[in-house]
Amino acid sequence: MPPLTRRTIIAVSTIAALAARPGIAATPPANKQAPGIYRYRIGAFELTALYDGIWYRPITDTFIRNAPFAEVEHALAEAFMPADKLATPFTALFVNTGNKLVLIDTGTGGQIAPSAGALRENVAAAGIDADAVDLIVISHFHPDHINGIKDKDNNIVYPNAEIMVPSAEWNFWMDDANMNAAPADLKLTFRNQRRIFSDIAPRVARFEPGAEVAPGILTLAAAGHTPGHTVFAIHSGNQSLLVLGDTAQHPAVFARHPDWQAAFDIDGAAAVATRKKLFDRAAADRMLVTGYHFPFPACGHLIKTASGYEHVPVLWQPTL
Ligand SMILES: [Zn+2]
Repeated sequence: MPPLTRRTIIAVSTIAALAARPGIAATPPANKQAPGIYRYRIGAFELTALYDGIWYRPITDTFIRNAPFAEVEHALAEAFMPADKLATPFTALFVNTGNKLVLIDTGTGGQIAPSAGALRENVAAAGIDADAVDLIVISHFHPDHINGIKDKDNNIVYPNAEIMVPSAEWNFWMDDANMNAAPADLKLTFRNQRRIFSDIAPRVARFEPGAEVAPGILTLAAAGHTPGHTVFAIHSGNQSLLVLGDTAQHPAVFARHPDWQAAFDIDGAAAVATRKKLFDRAAADRMLVTGYHFPFPACGHLIKTASGYEHVPVLWQPTL
């Protein structure tokens, strides 16, 4: 603050007089958020990151299996997040390869939290025609990734899209013996998968890791979070992007603490091993990465630190 001299006192009183003057035209507040759209390019491919919204997932002392809750609360406080909730943003990614319009993961379909479900509005705001989507590729079968295939009334949202899913996801989750053996809360997940997939099974193709689901979009096994969890390497020209899915949720928690095993990881140890392997590679090669639950627009880089990794978000580029 500048010292109070006669000159600053005059300046302050002038500002106060101006502030008290009525506006030339009263502007009503917008009272709603602006569309969540971010475009970038990987070689010849045009990518559009579209925000679906955020869920503040309630957590308790059972959330991280292998760390004291006080440490978890500390990590959340360090990231300016509520102590009893995990900030869980959702960003879906459209890839226009020039020949195909591909959607990687489909958002919550407005079926997870009232503060999420904006994807369809943002698709429209981005000028993307849902009828023009050729292919939907799914990283894994958790509801926040598959529910956007349908709306709340079970209608298909992208009527012309082929759907490709990891074989290992289909085999695990669509197995009734696994559903029957699951605890009650996980049974809901199994039932939701049947709601989404059962009546459209003939149009759902399954892929093995290593398959190229579209020219320039390669699949890589990344099991742990779920048995068939898959990440995608997008290549065009001499540029690439690693689509990390749920290898880590919010980076302020899981990049900084890569050893933490979350309750929602089906195989916690495998999830940690996958996370470290992919993050090490991304950090060493200085690769551009995107994470489904990273803060919008969800893309950036990872750097290795003494105790884990730090996510460095991209700077908003005004041109492609
Ligand atoms: Zn997820």
